[in-house]
Amino acid sequence: MDSDPTHDTASSMPGSSAIYFDGTTSRRHAVTPGFYDRLEINADDRTLAMWSYADIRRVDSPSGALRLTCLTAPALARLEIRDAAVAAELISRCTRLDEDFPDRRGIARIVGWSIAAALSIVGVIWFGVPLAADRLTPLVPQALERRLGAVADGQVRTLFGGKVCDNTSGQAAFTKLVNAVRESAGLDTSIQSQVLATPIPNAFALPGGKVYVFNGLLAKAENADEIAGILAHEFGHLRHRDGTRNLIYNGGTSFLIGLLFGDITGSGALIFASRSLVTASYSREAEQNADTFAIDAMHRLGRSPKPMGELMFRVTGKEGDRTLSILSNHPLTEDRLARMSNEDRPPSGPPLLTAVEWASLKAICSSAK
Ligand SMILES: [Zn+2]
Repeated sequence: MDSDPTHDTASSMPGSSAIYFDGTTSRRHAVTPGFYDRLEINADDRTLAMWSYADIRRVDSPSGALRLTCLTAPALARLEIRDAAVAAELISRCTRLDEDFPDRRGIARIVGWSIAAALSIVGVIWFGVPLAADRLTPLVPQALERRLGAVADGQVRTLFGGKVCDNTSGQAAFTKLVNAVRESAGLDTSIQSQVLATPIPNAFALPGGKVYVFNGLLAKAENADEIAGILAHEFGHLRHRDGTRNLIYNGGTSFLIGLLFGDITGSGALIFASRSLVTASYSREAEQNADTFAIDAMHRLGRSPKPMGELMFRVTGKEGDRTLSILSNHPLTEDRLARMSNEDRPPSGPPLLTAVEWASLKAICSSAK
């Protein structure tokens, strides 16, 4: 029976007591297991395979049979033993027969992990994204930030149908004011600011450095310090990259929701993200930090931050018309006005605009020069 006469014949079971599939062909081999220092799978006078006992694993078997595979064999290689004595002999030698293969307990473990994975995605959406946004925001390159801003910019133009106001004298006054605040805020000339012909009293900053002031806010403003403070506040959002953080937060959320529902193109997520950037509010903390930034910038200009608070209060009112503007999502304007009043100081710097320039800025959207 043995192909090798030096083998201990007592270790070999007589007859073709097993079926072997080599895992590469569909051929069924009637084989005899030979129990030596390794398991030999012998057919006629050939050894088809040699399996180390430590590598042999049990796989799902029909009742009355022991079905085995081997970690070093082709994945579909199988040895099926129906002879109880041969099976018992093999089981006694294969000490790791039931390791590493998903039995029922293993399957339960896999199901458990799958549920945990699904829950963790939900957890990331509710809890993880703000943390991720905070960590990711400083890593976003400025070039990418500008591209994100450009997408959002297109959304702004669409949403607010904004025509840019830039009549010559108005634009000259606006540029002078923007430059004074920008320099005081320590920001470079990549900052761009424009007035849009929109009646909503609002202003905001987009990632990449674009600040919009709506004509509706100019209409409510009574002096240049009020607009300067608002500009400084928006510059604070830019310096703190709050818009980019919001974009990651909203974009990240929609991206993950998209993944959950199978939308992995990302384009829908980006449009949704930039739209929510325009309509979503910053966190209260971000608003307070931007206010702090604005208060410091105004102090460096030798101007009071109080007018900024007064303009906000004028726009939102005591309770505020909370449907009108992004300002409505800011912290309570009463609290902010109180804070800026505390920071009020007599002017130590020159007026930011002359009376004539201020009048020109107020009229920046009129067609007359
Ligand atoms: Zn703000």
